[in-house]
Amino acid sequence: MEISSVTKSKNPRNSTVFTLSTSSDLKILVTECSELLSYDESSDAEDVSEGGYIEFESPDAPIADQAIFYVKESALDENNVRLEHVKDLAWRDKGGNDTINLGEESIKGIGVWLATFHDQVTPLSTMFMDDIWSAIKVCAERGFDRKKLQPWFKQWVDRIRNEQSKTWNDVMFNRQLLFPCHFFDDAVGFQQLTKFLVYNTNMFSPIKESKPFKFDRGDLSPKFVIKQLNAVREDLRTVLQRRIFAEVHGILEQSACRCNDTAICTYLKEIDRIGIKPWGATFYNSSIKDITDRLELFDPALVRKLNVKPCHCKCSPHCGCSIVWDEVVKKAHKDILGYFDGLCLDCTKHTPNEDSNYWKPEIQRNRYDQNCRINHGEKTWYFSFMGQRKHHRFERDWF
Ligand SMILES: [Zn+2]
Ligand SMILES: [Zn+2]
Ligand SMILES: [Zn+2]
Repeated sequence: MEISSVTKSKNPRNSTVFTLSTSSDLKILVTECSELLSYDESSDAEDVSEGGYIEFESPDAPIADQAIFYVKESALDENNVRLEHVKDLAWRDKGGNDTINLGEESIKGIGVWLATFHDQVTPLSTMFMDDIWSAIKVCAERGFDRKKLQPWFKQWVDRIRNEQSKTWNDVMFNRQLLFPCHFFDDAVGFQQLTKFLVYNTNMFSPIKESKPFKFDRGDLSPKFVIKQLNAVREDLRTVLQRRIFAEVHGILEQSACRCNDTAICTYLKEIDRIGIKPWGATFYNSSIKDITDRLELFDPALVRKLNVKPCHCKCSPHCGCSIVWDEVVKKAHKDILGYFDGLCLDCTKHTPNEDSNYWKPEIQRNRYDQNCRINHGEKTWYFSFMGQRKHHRFERDWF
């Protein structure tokens, strides 16, 4: 890790030295052990269940190392870093000198905090996902104010978004970023990754989060988030399946016209050709995005060519020959992709209690993101509220 504008050097004992203040009056010693950040093989609460071993590949995996930070005690005081508390926890070296021995700690995890306390910049490019988690762990264990690191974290997420878009398309990356975005209250990042996970996680397994290493978060664990993500995806799957076959269902119910047989068969053949098995496993072994991508391959020419000519009947409301199938498919595709805008952290954290007027059905809403930092529609509003909903006023638009 490099911290700009500060001196970094290797001392004779092969520790990396970071000078965070030219008038430092305190020396902080950190030892990092490779065992410190072991992978999380545990299965936590259902919210964060991993279901097994997750291997996290980092180009900068933890190695045994030692670092010395030269800091200014007043900078720590200004940031309410509680040295008394620190003393109780034996931060102070037994020698009683100007050295605080933190013992085993993530060098980058503590380093980003110390740099922030000294208004120094930690380069974004040297911090990887496990370092972000290490910084959170340090924050939780040392009682630091997470707000101090929020701007830096947001810049880190923005950088990934702008410079490493492929990384953002990786499901595991999104699973591991879920908690950091929640922790640092990054509404934009949280919206983006929750939407990504809902649309891009294969439906053969539940949406889960992932932790790069063992970390007992206690009360810090976000409640209900994973449940809600799985609920949205389940809802989307149902709506998508119904939308694709709604017209087939409709004409079977409403019309006995002879043209139906050819029309339905031709449509189903095309749906099958593009890889959506009408009664097959497609809706259980693909992601929502996989299926909408396949809808883009729908070829109206093939349907028109194979379909019968209009039969000039007077069916009302309609029969097979009058359906514009590619419009049906295009609309389903557009509606499904616009169905869910990701979870909204503001709605998540401000769920009204069940007796609130908020839930009264007579209250009409034109906007669902009135007091939110992000723009979103009704589905995000509904699924972002956490906990029990006695006042269930949600109605599907489409069915
Ligand atoms: Zn007809
Ligand atoms: Zn007809
Ligand atoms: Zn909201």
